Amino acid sequence: MTTALLSVSDKTGIVDFARALHQRGIKLLSTGGTARLLADNGLPVTEVAEVTGFPEMLDGRVKTLHPRIHGGLLARRDMPEHMAALKAHGIATIDLLVINLYPFAQATARPDCTLEDAIENIDIGGPAMLRAAAKNWPDVGVVIDPTDYAQVLGELDAGGLTRKTKFGLARKVYAHTAAYDGMITNYLSALDAGAEDKPSAVPARAEYPGIYTLQLEKTQDLRYGENPHQSAAFYRERQPAPGTLAGWTQLQGKELSFNNIADADAAWECVKTFDAPACVIVKHANPCGVAVGGTATEAYTKALKTDTTSAFGGIVAFNQPLDVATVEAMVAAKQFVEVLIAPSVTPDARELLAKKQNLRLLEVPLSRQGNALEFKRIGGGMLLQSADAKNVAASELRIVTTLQPTHEQMQDLLFAWKVAKFVKSNAIVYCAGGMTLGVGAGQMSRVDSSRIASIKAENAGLSLQRSAVASDAFFPFRDGLDVVIDAGASCVIQPGGSMRDQEVIDAANERGIAMVFTGTRHFRH
Ligand code: 5GP
Repeated sequence: MTTALLSVSDKTGIVDFARALHQRGIKLLSTGGTARLLADNGLPVTEVAEVTGFPEMLDGRVKTLHPRIHGGLLARRDMPEHMAALKAHGIATIDLLVINLYPFAQATARPDCTLEDAIENIDIGGPAMLRAAAKNWPDVGVVIDPTDYAQVLGELDAGGLTRKTKFGLARKVYAHTAAYDGMITNYLSALDAGAEDKPSAVPARAEYPGIYTLQLEKTQDLRYGENPHQSAAFYRERQPAPGTLAGWTQLQGKELSFNNIADADAAWECVKTFDAPACVIVKHANPCGVAVGGTATEAYTKALKTDTTSAFGGIVAFNQPLDVATVEAMVAAKQFVEVLIAPSVTPDARELLAKKQNLRLLEVPLSRQGNALEFKRIGGGMLLQSADAKNVAASELRIVTTLQPTHEQMQDLLFAWKVAKFVKSNAIVYCAGGMTLGVGAGQMSRVDSSRIASIKAENAGLSLQRSAVASDAFFPFRDGLDVVIDAGASCVIQPGGSMRDQEVIDAANERGIAMVFTGTRHFRH
């Protein structure tokens, strides 16, 4: 290796890396800003302008776009015609390219970024050189990630970059330029019509770009998908929102499966919405027990009571540090748990869990934040929507019956409402005392969900007398309401908005229960 070209916007670590290259006898070429920094640090560096015979021009738009640079990157060293062409034109080879691009993401994240600013932050020569070097990967090493500097130096000392490393670096490049172009696409295709006529204004940006690209990286292959005959892998967003499941650290246990991850997500999204210590047990994407308590142990014990049968082989999530008392309660209950999730795990709880080697234990940093957008794949397309981040405010609640709910009933109703949002529609959730008593999920009829939830409570030996009930969407007729009142409900929370609201309100008054409308529904399919 004889020559390296360094051209970086983010100059972190570049001086040390350049010095290390220089110490290994490698000649340094560089663009204006980078060259100045290296020279200021006492390194001998040749400016690209000297090589091309052209000054950098057009405010830096043209720096390296020249056959003397691109010839040096693209010539195949194993093809005599290529090498002869270089010789004929007096072009020297470039063997190592070190680049990071204009910071388009940071620039457009600024609230005062005008269209002009955004456009100026689109790198031209950088991606061109990256693509050239990566295309010629057997002959050129190309580094876009400062965390690769150390490995590159190590291999140079051991005789040169290996083919494997060079190919790996090239692959990284195309992922990087694709992501870079994806960012530009998302930005530009979200601009309102007419933005082009106001380049010095901060343009309005639509929530849903005309073309949407999402950057995902495979972090692991999974043994199989939802079923053993389906293959599967897990892809993580390049920048997952804080507090989302993808930020997990697996502390112990078997490999996570496709269904484990999907169910863990459902449990985590639900448990993190509670302020008090809470426990959520999920089975097949639905909560089968949710409770709050004074402690995590109490929340767990209550949540398990809802449906011990379904909880077997479930996913259990906490919004509190997992302590030894809670683990002891799980052991005492002989609950078989597939995945356990908590923001942290105390050392003694970890020690106790270590005895259950198969149990998958995940630590996920807690935050209320979540995905901004949700997707649903359909044949040949994808639906995109903002996440259901709605939490009903006290001012939005409307008591529609003559009977007012007591303070305690209101607490139960709001708890039930929170849970119903995470239950597949049609969702009916019976609650009391900060715990679920019966969960009816995923039925095509609300009446059936109401019946199933009460049957489940009965099976679990739980009384529904004076319980609170949440329905994720309105009761289209009074029949569903009659079912929950027959089962013992004393108050109901639901969105309202049915053509037959009056029929349903009359039924509630006639049967002497309190009913609250939220004005918003929480379908979940
Ligand atoms: P410097 O600070 O060294 O003057 O500029 C470094 C940046 O310029 C790098 O981000 C690199 O990708 C970019 N760059 C290199 N050559 C060109 C070019 O010909 N045109 C444009 N627009 N950017 C370039």
